[in-house]
Amino acid sequence: MVKEFDVLVAGAGPAGCAAAMVLAGRGHRVGLAERAAHPRHKLCGGLLTGKSMDALARIFGLDEAALALRGGLFHRSACYRFLHQGGELARGAAAEPFRFIDRPAFDALLLDLALARGAVLLPEREVSACDAQAGALTFRDGETLRARFVIGADGANSVTRRALGVDRAAWKRNLAAAIEVELPVGAGPGQFPRGVDVPELHVGGPCVPGAGYGWVFPGPRGPKVGICGLRRSERDFGAIFLDYLRLLGVRQPESVPLRGHPLPYGNALARPSGGRLLLAGDAGGFVEPLFGEGIFYALATGAHAGAALCRALETGADAGREYEGLLSRSVRPELVWSNRLRWLLFAALQHFGPAPLKGFVHCAPAALAQMVHGRRSFKLLLPKRWEWGAEVLG
Ligand SMILES: Cc1cc2nc3c(=O)[nH]c(=O)nc-3n(C[C@H](O)[C@H](O)[C@H](O)COP(=O)(O)OP(=O)(O)OC[C@H]3O[C@@H](n4cnc5c(N)ncnc54)[C@H](O)[C@@H]3O)c2cc1C
Repeated sequence: MVKEFDVLVAGAGPAGCAAAMVLAGRGHRVGLAERAAHPRHKLCGGLLTGKSMDALARIFGLDEAALALRGGLFHRSACYRFLHQGGELARGAAAEPFRFIDRPAFDALLLDLALARGAVLLPEREVSACDAQAGALTFRDGETLRARFVIGADGANSVTRRALGVDRAAWKRNLAAAIEVELPVGAGPGQFPRGVDVPELHVGGPCVPGAGYGWVFPGPRGPKVGICGLRRSERDFGAIFLDYLRLLGVRQPESVPLRGHPLPYGNALARPSGGRLLLAGDAGGFVEPLFGEGIFYALATGAHAGAALCRALETGADAGREYEGLLSRSVRPELVWSNRLRWLLFAALQHFGPAPLKGFVHCAPAALAQMVHGRRSFKLLLPKRWEWGAEVLG
């Protein structure tokens, strides 16, 4: 197997595959190191917004038909519901639908496309350490590979992130816990009492105290029920989730096996690069801090990291500076403004109850749906255009 690479990418999720697509598309030699065998499980609601669909078209040349054929797309809904403590606050219909994908099939398709573009898979290789200055990845089996650059796209529990000396306490403060289960529909213990075609967002205790929310999404085998939230309460998160299931009418929720995964929820790194290393996706904390949307931000930051390294390899430009330039013209402002909105809305919810949130959702429902889909900015609902490097051409 070829082991000479211009760029090594740790992690073949959406961020790593997007980076590999861009780099391999320009003829650079890319090694994709992935510890799991795809298709692999990933805890995820699988909701794709309009901007995620645009990113998939631009980076991977994928459209809805191809996603339905091979990418695990199983449902679309323009309607949505907002609930507070089980009571409906609002329901609406967006101009464009939300799409729902099954992550194992979706991620496997992205990986196939990156490999077809010329990236080389280093299969079932677990990265155990990264040297940012040397551009080196060391694997669990002791082997070390070097390249001119490394992209850390190894998810929320990133190993490569350690090479940047990130403040662990600060990272943990904004790390949400998330639990999600997929339940069969039925009236029995551990079953969900109704079918779900329309995505629901649930806010307020007992779902999640403080910043966070619960969701009920259509799932490929049955409704997906989840919660995410910053762990700023003394209560056990598993116990909070069981209360949430009870609120939703699930009998004997203790019989449901729980699965959790951390979600970077407002901790996008101010400096996601150092030496020869760039971090993308969850590894760099790039998740939108109000709704917890991460797939789009993984695709976008992966593509930006790839574009920045194309420039560094082709023109000798400073990789970190190029990356930051692309981030600050596209995803950073959205993350900053959605974080402000998050604190405003959750503080209002805590102090005044659901009325301000209800007013907010009712005041301009079409514009708010456009904000979620990425057609409008979190900044004052201004029209939003996403910037991509010239290297990201689909
Ligand atoms: C419960 C839950 C629900 C969510 N729902 C949604 C949703 O509905 N919509 C949405 O947009 N976002 C959602 N998200 C967020 C979204 O799942 C993530 O933001 C997204 O998966 C990030 O992509 P990524 O490529 O950065 O990381 P990942 O998807 O985590 O991929 C990282 C890859 O790196 C590999 N890896 C990890 N460590 C190593 C290692 N040491 N060596 C080699 N390989 C390694 C992993 O196997 C994996 O393949 C949800 C998250 C959670 C936790």
